[in-house]
Amino acid sequence: MLAEIILPLPLAQTYTYVVGQEFASQIAVGKRVTVSFGAKKTYNGIVLRVFEGEAKENYKNISQIIDNEPVVTENQLKLWQIISEYYCAPIGDIYTAAVPSGLRLDTYREKTVKILVPNFDINDNEQANFVLEKLKKSKRQQETFLKILDCFFEKNNFEIEFSELQKKLNISQNILKTLIQKEIFLQNERVVSRLETKKSEQDAKILTENQKKTLSEIEKLFEEKSTVLLHGVTSSGKTEIYIHLIIKYLSQNKNVLFLVPEIGLTSQLMERLQKIFGETLLVYHSKMSDAQRVEMWNILLQNAGNKVVIGTRSSVFLPFRNLDLIVIDEEHDNSFFQSDASPHYSAKGAAGFLSRIFGAKILLGSATPSIESYSNAQFGKYGLTTLKNRFNDIQLPEIQLLDLKEMYFKKRMRGHFSLELIDKINETLGKGEQVILFQNRRGFSLSLECAECGWVQKCTRCDVSLTYHRLTNALSCHYCGYTVQNQRVCKNCGSRNITNKGFGTEQVQEEAEKLFPNFKIARLDSDSAKKRDSFSKILSTFERKEIDILVGTQMVSKGIDFSNVGLVAVLNADNLLNFPDFRSHENAFEMLVQISGRAGRKEKQGIVIIQTFEPNSPLINYVRNNDYLSFFKMQMAERHLFNYPPYCRLVKISLKHKSKDFAEKAAEKLAEILRENTDFAVLGPDNPPIEKVQFMFIRDILLKISNKISYKKINEDIFNSIKNLRQIPDYKYILVSVIVDAL
Ligand code: ADP
Ligand code: ZN
Ligand code: ZN
Repeated sequence: MLAEIILPLPLAQTYTYVVGQEFASQIAVGKRVTVSFGAKKTYNGIVLRVFEGEAKENYKNISQIIDNEPVVTENQLKLWQIISEYYCAPIGDIYTAAVPSGLRLDTYREKTVKILVPNFDINDNEQANFVLEKLKKSKRQQETFLKILDCFFEKNNFEIEFSELQKKLNISQNILKTLIQKEIFLQNERVVSRLETKKSEQDAKILTENQKKTLSEIEKLFEEKSTVLLHGVTSSGKTEIYIHLIIKYLSQNKNVLFLVPEIGLTSQLMERLQKIFGETLLVYHSKMSDAQRVEMWNILLQNAGNKVVIGTRSSVFLPFRNLDLIVIDEEHDNSFFQSDASPHYSAKGAAGFLSRIFGAKILLGSATPSIESYSNAQFGKYGLTTLKNRFNDIQLPEIQLLDLKEMYFKKRMRGHFSLELIDKINETLGKGEQVILFQNRRGFSLSLECAECGWVQKCTRCDVSLTYHRLTNALSCHYCGYTVQNQRVCKNCGSRNITNKGFGTEQVQEEAEKLFPNFKIARLDSDSAKKRDSFSKILSTFERKEIDILVGTQMVSKGIDFSNVGLVAVLNADNLLNFPDFRSHENAFEMLVQISGRAGRKEKQGIVIIQTFEPNSPLINYVRNNDYLSFFKMQMAERHLFNYPPYCRLVKISLKHKSKDFAEKAAEKLAEILRENTDFAVLGPDNPPIEKVQFMFIRDILLKISNKISYKKINEDIFNSIKNLRQIPDYKYILVSVIVDAL
C-alpha cells in the first residue's frame, strides 16, 4: 500500500511513501504521518491519498501515524488542491498556511488549571460534620474548611480553581496544604479552553422596510445565483442585514462563515456580533495565539454544529464540516489577498471554491465594490441589490473640494492646512464634534533631501528613500524595516541643509497640535498601533470622545462607526492617485469614499473636505457626487481599452536575485520560454517601481490571459516554463514567485 503525502515545505509536489503492514489498518486520508525527507530530516505530513501500487526503489516508509482520527477533512484537501492549481501555489505552502503550527509540529498541549475538589460527599451533612470534628484542634483549619464549603455551594459546583481560591477567599497556603495532606480535599486538574466566548446579551435590531426589502431580495436572488453583491452606501445598515440573514441560517441549523478585512476586526464589528450571537460565534484572526487556533480547529473538526465563524482571510482554511453561507464584508478590501507571502491567494477566491465544494451561498457587501465584483454583477454572474440611503435617512456627507494650487498661490496655507480647512475644524470642534484628518502616509516626512546637491538618503537594502520619523529621530525603510538614527547631514556633500520632502501623519499631528492647542489630538497608524490592542484602545478612546482630532492613515477608514464625527478632511488626495498601477484609481476612489463615510453617521449630515491639486479630475468629482456607477463605467472603459481585468486575467511572475545582472538575464530567459506559449500575452520583463528589496533585485513578467482559457492549462504552462528555466544550471535556484490575480 502507498500513500501520497503533503509535506510542510515550499514544494509544489506531493511525495509517495510506502505504508508498512503495521500501519495498514490505521492509515487514512487527512491523518498526520511522520516521514523522513531529504538529508535525515523528518516532517509531519498529511495523507492526501491512499492507494494500492508498486513501490519504487526510492520510496521510503512512513515512520509513524500520529492521529487516531484525521485532523484535516477531505473537503479541506479538495480546497488546498484547487487553490494550489488556480493560484499556482505550492501545496506545501498551503498546508503550512492552513494548519496551525501546534498541529503541524504536534506541539499543542491542552491548557489545564489546578482545581480543588472535596474528597467526601459534600451533600451528606454527617460526613461534613465528621470532617469538622477531625479538625477541631485547629480553629483556623475549621474556618478555612467551612469557607471553602460555602464557596462550593455558592457556585453550585463542587470544584474551585486554585487561582479563584486565592483571589476570592484569601486563604492561607499552609492551611490549604494541610487540608490537602489530610485528604479532606483533593487537588485535580481540569482542561480549559483558551477561547474567549461571551454570552449573547441583545437581540438584533428591527430592520427598516427598506432593509427588509433588500434582505428578501437577497434571498430571492440566492434561488438563482450562488453569489449576491450588496452595494449599499456607508451606514445603510448592511451589517444589520448580514445579521438578520445569519439568524435565518442559524435557525435552520446551518453554518456561516463571516469574512472580514484584516484590520477592523478587533473592534466594533466583532463586539457587535458577539453581543448578538454569543457562544454561537467563533472568532478567528491573526492576533490569536497558535494554541487558540488549534482549539478552534478542533471544535470545528468535531462538528460543533450550528456556528458562525467570523474571521480574517485565513479562516477559509478551517475544517468546516458544513458551510451554507459565506458573508464577505467590505469585499473590496485588499487584505483579502495575501500578497506578502506564499501562498499568494485571495480569500474571496477561496470562498468561491468553498461555495462550490459545500454548495454554500456567498453574500458580498460594500459601499465601493471592487470593479471585478461589480462587473460580475453587471454581466449577470452575481445577483445585485442596492441600498441607496443611509439608515434613518441621514444624509450622505457634503463633500467640498479645496484647490491646493490656488491656496498656495494665494498664500492661504499654514503648513499643510488651508485657512478654509482650519476654519472648518474650529467650527466643528466648537460644536463639540470630532474631526478626522486623513493622510495616507505614516512618519514625519517621506524622505530627507539635501538642499545643496539633491542627495536623498536611501535604504541600503532596498531601492527606496527612507521615511523620516521625528518622534524617534530615525529614518526607516517601509519595505524592509531597516532603521538608522538621523544624522541630518548630507553624505554626498557634507551640507547640513537638509529638507523634508512629502509629509506623513506625524507631521500632520504636529501641525495640528500647534494650530489647535486646546484640543486633544491622537494618531492612528501602524506606528501608533504597533502593540497588541493599542488599535482598539485608540478607537475606543475616540469613541468615548476623549480625543477631539484623530490623525490617521487608511486605518481610520475601515468599517468603523463613529457617531460624533462632524468633519473628515483629506489633507492631500493626490498622493493616492499617482501610483503606476492599473488599480490605483480604484483604490483611491474606494479610500476617499470610505474615509468620507466616517463623517456624520448619526442623526446629522457630516462634512468632508478634500484638499487636492486636481479638483477637476473626474475621479475626485465622482467621489464628491458619490457616483459609483459613473466611476465604474469610466474604469471599465479604461480597462477595456488597455486590456486589464476583468477583461483578462493577470499573472505576475517575479524573479529575484542578489545580482542585478542575474535577475535580468533569468527574467529575459523566462520571458522567452513563456513566449513560446500562445495561451497568453507576455509583457516585460520590467523593472518594478521598487527595483530592489532586501538586497534582492526584482524583475517582473506580466501575463495577460484570456478569460476563456482554463486555469489548469495556465498552471501547467507556467509550471513547465519555470521548470525549463531551472534546467539551465545557472538558474537552478533562482527565486520565482507567481502571483495570480495580483493586486
Ligand atoms: P453599514 O454596514 O452599511 O455601514 P451599519 O449596519 O453599520 O451600516 O449601520 C450603520 C448604523 O446604523 C449602525 O450604528 C447601526 O446600528 C444603525 N442601524 C442600521 N440599521 C438599523 C436599524 N434597522 N435599526 C436601528 N439601527 C440601525
Ligand atoms: Zn548634499
Ligand atoms: Zn529597505
